Amino acid sequence: MDATQVFCPNVACVARGQIGQGNIVSHGKARARYRCKACRKTFSAHAGTMFEGLRKPKALIVIVVTLLAYGCPIQAIVQAFGLDERTVASWRDRAGTHCQQVHQAVVQQGQLDLVHVQADEIRVKGCKLIAWMGLAMMVSTRLWLGGVVSLSRDRKLADQLLAQVRSCCQPLRALLVCTDGWNAYPGSIRRAFREKVKETAGRGRACLRVWPQLCIGVVIKRTEKNRVVDITRKMVQGTLEQAQTLLEASCGGTVLNTAFIERLNGTIRQRLASLTRKCRHAARRLTALESGMWLLGCTYNFCWPHHELSRREACAQGKRGEVLLTPAMASGLTDHVWSLWELLSYRVAPAPWVAPKRRGRPPKHTAPHVSKQPSSSEQPRCRPLLRLRKGVLCSTTS
Ligand SMILES: [Zn+2]
Repeated sequence: MDATQVFCPNVACVARGQIGQGNIVSHGKARARYRCKACRKTFSAHAGTMFEGLRKPKALIVIVVTLLAYGCPIQAIVQAFGLDERTVASWRDRAGTHCQQVHQAVVQQGQLDLVHVQADEIRVKGCKLIAWMGLAMMVSTRLWLGGVVSLSRDRKLADQLLAQVRSCCQPLRALLVCTDGWNAYPGSIRRAFREKVKETAGRGRACLRVWPQLCIGVVIKRTEKNRVVDITRKMVQGTLEQAQTLLEASCGGTVLNTAFIERLNGTIRQRLASLTRKCRHAARRLTALESGMWLLGCTYNFCWPHHELSRREACAQGKRGEVLLTPAMASGLTDHVWSLWELLSYRVAPAPWVAPKRRGRPPKHTAPHVSKQPSSSEQPRCRPLLRLRKGVLCSTTS
């Protein structure tokens, strides 16, 4: 047990989320526990990981979650390991929630220069429900940026999806967003990528202005008998020249397209058991879909080497088939391929404690007759208790 690499997870603690400050000590040998000297709370070594409070062996949990992330139906896992169906479902939900936290803490931190983003949505046929799953990705590094599951395909879904993309992106960068012909996208993109600008001097409200180098490209496909017969490409925002420059910079094809997000949709459909078409294990609840999506997206980003990225990197380094590169590594978010164990036991640190801001008038000095504590004798009094007449002190001492 190394207490120097652990932080206090207590959100009410002043030393929360800090590593190597000497406030964490080991607490108990039988079970791995720690104690924080700042808040005097004890906590498990698994606090903040997916394994917190679980009694089953961790190796079994990791195997089950790996199978879930590769699209194995729950019923198959139940038969293979003799587990209860509800146990496996609760592990999937836990893993999904944990992956969402890791994604928010690592990817959605506003540090990526996205250049070219594609967004699309999948129609999900569940058991007595139709849901929509909106997904977005960064084209140059194939990084999955976020996703939203909703029962209706409305403006709210697009807004939530684009807000997640915005939280990944460095502000005011040149950016091309390619989508399909859904009407809600251009408005949502403009709402997500705008900043407050003060245009008049003095008092008054700031205006919201769309980023100057934002380009929105729309690709509309017309199908007849499940065959694409016509493709219309148009710019809704920005010029085609700007878009061409960004397409070249991101290696995202020569014309406006949504091919990369459609390839990711294929991966998600293949790897999420409840998304398989015409299956007997369709999703019954929206939360099951959502946790499956987060688990899949996070493992796609951090744990699975991407074939095309690895090939491109191997060509750049002059090696053959030795380089393994994940989308997170290509984006500079990490330097190695994560194992699923590492992902599930990653502890997300709470934000550092900040002293609350004092508002209003500062408190007045306490009057001496109010403070009757022993420490008050050391502090200078405002008024002496005994008032001497002028000259009395001199006459007695001399
Ligand atoms: Zn603490």
